[in-house]
Amino acid sequence: MTPQQTIPDQPDQLVDRLDGVLERIDAAARRVGRDPQEITLLLATKLRTPAQIAEVIELLRQRERRIAVGENRAQEIAKHADPLLADNGVPRHFIGRLQTNKARDVVAFAQMVHSVDRPDIADALERRAQMAEKTLEVLVQVNTSGEESKGGFAPELEAVTGILERLRESPVLRPVGLMTIGANTTDLEVVRASLRSLRELRDAARAATGIDGLTELSMGMSGDLEIAVEEGATIVRVGSAIFGPRP
Ligand SMILES: *Cc1c(COP(=O)(O)O)cnc(C)c1O
Repeated sequence: MTPQQTIPDQPDQLVDRLDGVLERIDAAARRVGRDPQEITLLLATKLRTPAQIAEVIELLRQRERRIAVGENRAQEIAKHADPLLADNGVPRHFIGRLQTNKARDVVAFAQMVHSVDRPDIADALERRAQMAEKTLEVLVQVNTSGEESKGGFAPELEAVTGILERLRESPVLRPVGLMTIGANTTDLEVVRASLRSLRELRDAARAATGIDGLTELSMGMSGDLEIAVEEGATIVRVGSAIFGPRP
């Protein structure tokens, strides 16, 4: 081997990491008989530059993947207006913890918000969507791990159906599924249990409310994406496994 092959330069590393993530998604989907093409790869873009994000989007376009970009900090939304990213046709989602006073920025940016984690966020998004004359897809965030550092509704049917019933009354918010951040532990069975419980809650909530449009399960990150795919994720949110360690 030549030195160039043993010591890849930066862009090759990016390609390798990206293809590694796609292989992980595909292998997990195959194990459970799912079509990998139906899984959206959401790029978690926090702290990444427009140039880095644009490069990954281009690579994913070449690979004909279903993609979205997800920002989790309202103060980073502006970077998506960069000429490298503006009007690129990639769906934009907001995935982070939201303050009500940032709802306007988020509504202007996003087609889907994954992090409706308390009623006043629903109220704020509704008000801002009405003012902007937009409809917004929303996911209810559920704290399936019970970890105190994490937001979200309790993983109980009543809590989840309560907020879903409120959302379905809205003329501008459209509840389309649930989101969770998996348990933060190296015990993979604990991680699996938390992710599986999101699917079970979604199924139960759909049956209880009759909201047929509850199709999405946003779960799985760099560390647990194959478990999430095996447990039914429709959107996996991946940052560091593609972009490298966070700066
Ligand atoms: C950062 C982030 C991710 C991606 O995390 P990685 O471990 O870097 O893949 C997913 N979801 C949310 C809500 C995040 O903030």
